[in-house]
Amino acid sequence: MRRKIVAGNWKMNLTRSEAKKLFEEVANLKSDLSCDVYQFVPSLFIADLLDAHLSSPVIGAQNAHPKSNGAFTGEISMHQLKDMGVKAILIGHSERRHFFGETNEFLKEKVDAAISEGLTLFFCCGESLEQRENGNHEQVVISQLKASLFHLPEKDFTNVVIAYEPVWAIGTGKTASSGQANEMHSAIRSAVAGNYSIEVAEKTSILYGGSCKPSNAKELFSKEHIDGGLIGGASLKAEEFEGIINAWK
Ligand code: PEP
Repeated sequence: MRRKIVAGNWKMNLTRSEAKKLFEEVANLKSDLSCDVYQFVPSLFIADLLDAHLSSPVIGAQNAHPKSNGAFTGEISMHQLKDMGVKAILIGHSERRHFFGETNEFLKEKVDAAISEGLTLFFCCGESLEQRENGNHEQVVISQLKASLFHLPEKDFTNVVIAYEPVWAIGTGKTASSGQANEMHSAIRSAVAGNYSIEVAEKTSILYGGSCKPSNAKELFSKEHIDGGLIGGASLKAEEFEGIINAWK
């Protein structure tokens, strides 16, 4: 059985008090959770949120440097996050690739650092609108996986979650149809099977991200290869996030 997951990515949003309030609201959801819940929060709030000592939602960081320490002004390392008690890290989000110039090679270093710190890594991949319109979308996504993720040995792949996030759907209100998303997830699963084994592929959770909301989550999550969602905008309101979590019921 693959893990079902709903993960929020708060991005650069919320103040300290708003973050605490939202985190508590999500932690106190009365719904019977039928999936694992993660919150990728701004690093600034991690210490506060960890103080609540809750096992769910699991706290993750949105970014970290692969080197464990050193002269990298302004950066936070995965080593430091691990020491704080953080359990998961986002790697390869399109905003990091596009706004901060993170290359496949750098993402590969991050993947290795996350594994060596024992963090669960959520590896994001996805094509631009132009790449989809040119029909290159599967090739683009699989090459992102090959370049930064597939060098891992099979034993480490248990700590990997893949998030397919078409760039044209992130924060735009446009969602991939459940058919388009499932087709890509199926291609990703076949690539994992080809690189590792069918057993590994069957155990790998592949999440969809891109304008996922309560109104479309159930349809998306009903598809064979979609194991949950990575949620941006809709993770900032507890009731919307709850609606997505409840899509698993
Ligand atoms: C994201 O940034 O990971 C994301 C999926 O954003 P949104 O849900 O707002 O499209």
